[in-house]
Amino acid sequence: MIEEFFPVSPSLLQAAKEAEKQCAPVFNRIDENAEYNGYKMLSAFIECGVSESHFIGSTGYGYGDRGRETLDRVLATVFHCEDALIRHNFVSGTHALTTALFGVLRPGDTLVCLSGTPYDTLLPVLGVVEGGHGCLKEFGVQYRQLDLLPDGTPDFNGIPQAVKGAKVAYLQRSRGYSLRESLSMDTIAKMISLIRSSNPDAIIMVDNCYGEFVERQEPTHAGADLIIGSLIKNPGGGIAKTGGYIAGRADLIELCACRLTAPGVGKEVGCTLGELREMYLGLFHAPTVVASALKTAVFASALLAKMGFAVSPAFDAPRTDIIQAVRLNTPEGLTAFCQGIQKGAPIDAFVTPEPWDMPGYDSKVIMAAGAFTLGASIELSADGPMREPYAAWLQGGITYPSGKAGILLAAQSLMDKGLVPNF
Ligand SMILES: *Cc1c(COP(=O)(O)O)cnc(C)c1O
Repeated sequence: MIEEFFPVSPSLLQAAKEAEKQCAPVFNRIDENAEYNGYKMLSAFIECGVSESHFIGSTGYGYGDRGRETLDRVLATVFHCEDALIRHNFVSGTHALTTALFGVLRPGDTLVCLSGTPYDTLLPVLGVVEGGHGCLKEFGVQYRQLDLLPDGTPDFNGIPQAVKGAKVAYLQRSRGYSLRESLSMDTIAKMISLIRSSNPDAIIMVDNCYGEFVERQEPTHAGADLIIGSLIKNPGGGIAKTGGYIAGRADLIELCACRLTAPGVGKEVGCTLGELREMYLGLFHAPTVVASALKTAVFASALLAKMGFAVSPAFDAPRTDIIQAVRLNTPEGLTAFCQGIQKGAPIDAFVTPEPWDMPGYDSKVIMAAGAFTLGASIELSADGPMREPYAAWLQGGITYPSGKAGILLAAQSLMDKGLVPNF
């Protein structure tokens, strides 16, 4: 089919056919989860009485904005928790995470991260690296971290000691841009019960970015006190134009709201302008959009493994986020791969990405992204630093046909340059 529209060589088409056949049972499980999460979403919309009047949006202070309040309730219902703060005026996932950290931590408190080094953008927030003006460290919040074991799994035995005296115990579900395994819901549940039994008062906070709707439950189902994510990733469904969320215990959401707006006003203010309809629609679509992104990742994993590249995770491994890493082995391989992904983008397909110096990175980085929303990584995108092992981190795909096409064009680009180990 695809050869009617794109130049894909017969040997690659054959490999793709075989890869897709291998993926069928995995796709089946992904569809079943999407169906489950789709019912969960629909029932939450119905239970919360969502109506067209909720899409209108407010201006100015945004007092009494029923659309905003109802959307919070929908998210809290879907995430099985007491309350939520889903707002277009979170500028990014990092901003939502920062709001949650500053919302609950006070001078003299200790924050402990139990999943090794947190995502890059959090390091200046904590004060672990320079440049974070007004970071937690400047406000007298202590930070410590429990490293992962050499095999990349959590150090369960170290948890009881590590959480002693901590105000916040912090976990990151997704691997982010590392080669460790992501934390499955089973693993997160096990970590939460260990934290609870050693320090019942600790606030358990989970960076849920890239994880939403991949499994049937979220960390809040397993007892996390707060989960945080970005709306230009999974829960925005490729439709929300910007924003983020914090969801969890009502008393903590109130603290976070007072940080996002101002003490004394909290959740009572914040106009929604014209953003509500897209936030509702994006959230509603999120389970099936996440399924498309997952199928794209699984297909890429199967095909590229067949072509002789090391992939992580394997196509049939359990997943809890939408990230796929592929080792392209050489600078030429990484560049050819990202250029191929770009050729299959609905937006800016005519652009050729090149490795470039990026602030905060010690080597050049190449990025492929042609998205409706700037920087949205629920849309097919790939990037990687120009250093060993020349790995690309691949994520997104708001429809499976477009995701599959992007992967095939990337594979073709590698073949055209003679960079494929297996054929
Ligand atoms: C994307 C992401 C964040 C936040 O990043 P933003 O680019 O600020 O939205 C934080 N943690 C993880 C694991 C992420 O994937």
